[in-house]
Amino acid sequence: MRIVVKVGTSTLAYATGRLNIRHVEELVKTLSDLKNAGHELILVSSGAIGMGVGKLNLPGKPSDMPTKQAAAAVGQCELMYTYDRLFSQFNHTVAQLLLTGEDIDHEDRRHNFENTLRRLLELGVLPIVNENDTVATAEISVGDNDTLGAVVACSAQAELLVLLSDIEGLYTADPHRNPDASLIPVVKEITPEILSLAGCAGSALATGGMTTKLRAAQMATEKGCDMVIANGARPEVLYAIVAGQPVGTRFVARH
Ligand code: GLU
Repeated sequence: MRIVVKVGTSTLAYATGRLNIRHVEELVKTLSDLKNAGHELILVSSGAIGMGVGKLNLPGKPSDMPTKQAAAAVGQCELMYTYDRLFSQFNHTVAQLLLTGEDIDHEDRRHNFENTLRRLLELGVLPIVNENDTVATAEISVGDNDTLGAVVACSAQAELLVLLSDIEGLYTADPHRNPDASLIPVVKEITPEILSLAGCAGSALATGGMTTKLRAAQMATEKGCDMVIANGARPEVLYAIVAGQPVGTRFVARH
């Protein structure tokens, strides 16, 4: 199976911006094992800005563009250094692909990206994708990595997109405020009612929330790709998700 896994800043780093070693190590181990089992994997990883904040000892997520971009430049190095080191322990080679919204909208550039992705998979490499935050201003950016995950899943013609986040999945109401909120295990159709459940969740260093996840689900399922939202605190849940077991919320592909 060709699988795209998107992992959010809240899974990779603490609120301080420092690496969550346990989460990252378990994620790398699980992905390596799934790759050994014969699956093709692509990782869409956030965390560049968050880890830059940690490394530069900044007080929080920067609000001005140059500091944000500087943090991303520092954090992206840290991120890839960490992945390269950890994946090598399991004999896997990683590659870095940095994109902006313009690259995706531009037919030739998108085509180049797809060719590179295909070749990397043929070569047995694990591609790691992020937004090119050092050049992506609001006008030309994808904006959030949930959408980027869906774009990558569509480009790669993946069968499964998994969004690992700090929530279990889609709830009938905001679970932080409503004790009666229950997890929705399967969504067969993204109706206006489902879209109205989005709320405006999101943590301090992250970008997306449920709105961007539902948009990603629309994009992926329309192209025949299942999408699952699950909690990244236990990356081993990927085994059950890949096996089709009920974990988090699964959005079923339309055809
Ligand atoms: N590209 C951003 C980063 O790596 C994250 C965007 C997102 O999480 O949606 O920090």
